[in-house]
Amino acid sequence: MTDLPLSAADVADTGSASATMTDDELTARVHDVVIIGSGPAGLTAAVYAARASLEPLLIEGVVEGGPTGGQLTLTTDVENFPGFPAGIMGPELIQNMRQQAERFGTRFITEDVTLAEVTTTPVTLQTASGKTIRARSLIIATGAKPRRLEVPGEDELWGGGVSACATCDGFFFRDKHVIVVGGGDSAMEEATFLTKFASKVTVIHRRSELRASVIMQERAFKNDRIEFLFDAEVTEIHGRDGLMTGVSVRDTATGAMSEVEADGLFLAIGHIPNTWLFEDVLDTDDEGYLVVDEPSTATNVPGVFACGDVMDHTYRQAITAAGTGCRAAMDAERYLAGAEGVTAAAPDAEPATASTDA
Ligand code: NAP
Repeated sequence: MTDLPLSAADVADTGSASATMTDDELTARVHDVVIIGSGPAGLTAAVYAARASLEPLLIEGVVEGGPTGGQLTLTTDVENFPGFPAGIMGPELIQNMRQQAERFGTRFITEDVTLAEVTTTPVTLQTASGKTIRARSLIIATGAKPRRLEVPGEDELWGGGVSACATCDGFFFRDKHVIVVGGGDSAMEEATFLTKFASKVTVIHRRSELRASVIMQERAFKNDRIEFLFDAEVTEIHGRDGLMTGVSVRDTATGAMSEVEADGLFLAIGHIPNTWLFEDVLDTDDEGYLVVDEPSTATNVPGVFACGDVMDHTYRQAITAAGTGCRAAMDAERYLAGAEGVTAAAPDAEPATASTDA
């Protein structure tokens, strides 16, 4: 990779596009590449597509698929993204990626896509404010949203103690007892983070073994404010006057029921891919993730590519999402150049354009 620093003049040349295009111009044009999603996958696709002079338009959602900027905006320290030996805060990492995409000419719209017609040529999208966006190629980077427990009390007490974001809501639980449900890295991270505020954190996990990586487990085990309740599942969340007071718990080994008093409950039980815009049109696997023609990012519809957590339930890391975002941009570039094979079998060919990048 020879990603040379740009001069001030370069930045001025490329970075102002989003500010200069009016809504009428955005809707009149058929864009070469439209990207839906503003997490690491979408932003990396934008960097690559912009540097390939494709002038991508990135639509960053607001509500439907989770927060603008994706799940990294809800995390604290990211310690495993290469290039940051001292770690970097999730929101800062996303902000850096966004600036980088903008610097090369990516345009941004900040609103949800409400309708997607991906089998038409060009692809047609409708946004929440009524804009019609047309594209020769589409990169789907819509990510995934937190899974819910689907137990009584969860909906009623959402925001009244029940949350899926410790970074957002942990502050409200100073000197309180909170529960974290889950046994993966997210659960360990959330539990550890919550001990900054809470007097006690109880991790409730449905099995006797954690799924989390050893280093995250060890960090949580060493923290004397964190307790573990294994072989246990929350069956109901209780509250009074809209505020959570505790949960009912079933022992998954014996079936015995018990009550745990707590002021808050944080869900960390995985995610559901954001694919509702493409239901019945794009192929999905058993868990609802978009299927791509590996190792390309091509979906079953020509010119439509998918990257990041919406198509990956195996790795689901910021760095792997960024990697697939890069691949999607290169696949779109090849598709637009008329390269054969990108929408069917994986292309073995060299990239369509020479590049100074890795
Ligand atoms: P995950 O690894 O899929 O773990 C989900 C956990 O929730 C599992 O322990 C699972 O139990 C449990 N679970 C699922 N459905 C449940 C239900 N209905 N009721 C009760 N428990 C349920 O998800 P994640 O922790 O969000 O991690 C996702 C990915 O992001 C992973 O690759 C992870 O390594 C990564 N990540 C990395 C970091 C970091 O490095 N800083 C931080 C967060 C996440 P079972 O174990 O029984 O299946």
